[in-house]
Amino acid sequence: MRNILVLTLIAVSFFKVELIYSGKPAWPIYGMPAAVHYDPVRHEFVDKTPSWDMINVLEDLREGRKKRSLPVRIPEKKEIRVKFNLFWRREEASEEKFLLITAVASKPYRQKVLLVNGPSQDPGDRFFGWPTPLLYAIAPTVEAIRGGLLNLSLADKIFDPWCYVEGVNSQEIKSSFRDKLEREGADIVCASATYDSLYPTLQLFAEAKKLNPRIVTILGGPHFDEVHNISALSDIFRHPELIDYAIAGDGEIALRELLKELSIKETANLQTVAENSTGRVWVYNNRGQSVSINKPLVLDELPFIPIELASDSHRLDFDVFTDEQGTILPTIQMIAARGCPYSCSFCSERKELAYPNVRSIGNIIQEIELRKQQGFRVVFFDDSTFGAYPKLLDLLHELKNTGMKFGSLNRFNHLTNPKLVEEFREAGFVYFYCAIELYDDEALRRMMKFQTTSHIIRGMRNLADFGFTLGVSLLYGLPYETEESIQATLDFTKEWVERGVIKLVSESVLSFHPGTPEGRDKNYSFDRTPPNLGYPWNRFEEGQWYHPAHVTPQYLEKILIASQERFSYALVRNRHSWVKKSSGVNG
Ligand code: SF4
Repeated sequence: MRNILVLTLIAVSFFKVELIYSGKPAWPIYGMPAAVHYDPVRHEFVDKTPSWDMINVLEDLREGRKKRSLPVRIPEKKEIRVKFNLFWRREEASEEKFLLITAVASKPYRQKVLLVNGPSQDPGDRFFGWPTPLLYAIAPTVEAIRGGLLNLSLADKIFDPWCYVEGVNSQEIKSSFRDKLEREGADIVCASATYDSLYPTLQLFAEAKKLNPRIVTILGGPHFDEVHNISALSDIFRHPELIDYAIAGDGEIALRELLKELSIKETANLQTVAENSTGRVWVYNNRGQSVSINKPLVLDELPFIPIELASDSHRLDFDVFTDEQGTILPTIQMIAARGCPYSCSFCSERKELAYPNVRSIGNIIQEIELRKQQGFRVVFFDDSTFGAYPKLLDLLHELKNTGMKFGSLNRFNHLTNPKLVEEFREAGFVYFYCAIELYDDEALRRMMKFQTTSHIIRGMRNLADFGFTLGVSLLYGLPYETEESIQATLDFTKEWVERGVIKLVSESVLSFHPGTPEGRDKNYSFDRTPPNLGYPWNRFEEGQWYHPAHVTPQYLEKILIASQERFSYALVRNRHSWVKKSSGVNG
């Protein structure tokens, strides 16, 4: 009896049951999401839910009603296939054979990488600047290629169009992307996307696959960092036919290791990528496999960002930094530390999503000296809150010796000490960008801002006393805002614009982000064109996306008119002195 059982098991092991579907998985996923994967060779979705559920499925089919199996997640069933599963023909075995052949031939399997900075869908966006998330992500890869440690080459410049608006300039962008891809002969496309640039990035991936289905696509960036562990929203689960690999977290070393694998193999072994990577990072492929890595990442060991791969016009993106004649000064962005120690309820950079990691002062100064040699006159620190740098006074003393000008993101509660603000000034700081959000203590408390109106007014006075200029952001659309809190915010901002301290006012609308407390239960996806197009949505940062129900066009228009009356010339979206980008869309 036992022998019969063993023989039966051996015989069964030569077969496998697969459910093949023609439709894409319906979301949200039920049952075993990791078992459903897209087979890029067969161009089909395959459900490899473990055999116990296959038995249930077969039972249900026999009975003619669904009783035992997991909930159906795919709308359109195609067929059930019982296939041979011979061990020498399994995927792993063929990969090993393939590796042997490529090793003997010692020829790189793939040759060239095209880098893409996903374009925004917001033509009114006036926040330009260097494509820093992508530049950080590729820095170790670029170093490895240039040092001969990675047998790939790079397309000459990052593909970085200003914006992509479906039906307006989308064809133009896609066609120039196709041209570049063909001209360069790239067989790997590696892109960084925000929530707003996800859809254009997916459109470009689709173009690449249309041109050559063998092109490998890799997605990373702030949006995937936020959604990668939300199965209903994870882009690689939703679009396995477009995204081959995706990386979340500290992606730079993992990206280099993934590219090493892809340069010598048909498909990358994620375990090998994990073994050779550092940082807190997650790597996924479109066959439902993933690895996570949690090893310390030493920021000082990373190479400086390869700005030569981006357009040189970014030097003049910061028009708040000018000389006495009003000429815009060449500005570079930099970070002193990653992550944010705060947890504002609406923000996707909150500490739960981006853990703090700090560069040494020596390493920061080394980079500044290099940028000086490259002709830069100003450094803008992109840190979420520069004032939270642990050895701030020591850093300020060293910055002073460089003779450069500086600006940074900061918070009013880090600027209430006049002595510290003076130290900033002496170090060369001339400009800060800080958030007021709403000038109302109850609203600030409920958004977990850890900042009060008293911090704001004290910080503002100190900045005025030491001759700083300031950009501020205001945030509307919060469920607990009132007419009074909006009025107080507008009046306070007007006062400081008139005093000449506030030079820039950026107005945002609360937009639900899935990784934040405000947006967690909403499950809104971003692989689409924005739900709110046109006026007045396009007059606010993030105005085109998802908001609470009380935010209607009439509601926003009222705020907009009140802002225009008070400080029209300081509104970021009214400014026209920015370097104009060449594109088919006018802002
Ligand atoms: S809004 Fe600013 S301070 Fe608050 S969590 Fe986000 S980055 Fe940090």
